[in-house]
Amino acid sequence: MIKLLILDGDDTLWQPMSGVCCSDRTPDDAIGDPNFTFAPTPDDRDMVQRGDGPLFALHEGVRDTIALAHERGVRLAVCSWNHVGNIDRILRAFGLRDDFDQVVAEWHTNKAGMIKKILAAESAAGHEYHPREVLFVDDDPSDIYRGQAAGLNINFAKMGHPDEAADWNAVQRLVKTL
Ligand SMILES: [Mg+2]
Repeated sequence: MIKLLILDGDDTLWQPMSGVCCSDRTPDDAIGDPNFTFAPTPDDRDMVQRGDGPLFALHEGVRDTIALAHERGVRLAVCSWNHVGNIDRILRAFGLRDDFDQVVAEWHTNKAGMIKKILAAESAAGHEYHPREVLFVDDDPSDIYRGQAAGLNINFAKMGHPDEAADWNAVQRLVKTL
């Protein structure tokens, strides 16, 4: 049974609508800017605008999945290759920051290391998990995170993969059935 759901940000929780990810000044920014601001748009709580203009759309089904997790006592974490302040602020702009028990974002691709930090923080908070009780969902564009998850023996589902997590309904099914 899944007890901890770890989610990626860009292209998983939300869709970058303007060609740049959460911390990126340009599409292939090697450094990023740690100090972006984010605000909800007036007419759509699922659309957030960064201070310099780019839009980010929360994926359909994310709020339902979070509600399902809360209902089942599944704890939630974000694991993101990003600058953590930006992730914190974009989650606040979507009104979701308080739904996540752990938010770990760092500017590198070692998500196994980030997940270890999430698990350590959960352990410190009194929540221990068997690896099979943990599900990590990421769009994994370079196909590196599946292997990192396998190294930790945790479950992995690739967001957008037709047989894994085609959409957030599929994530909900995994939370109920794994
Ligand atoms: Mg991503």
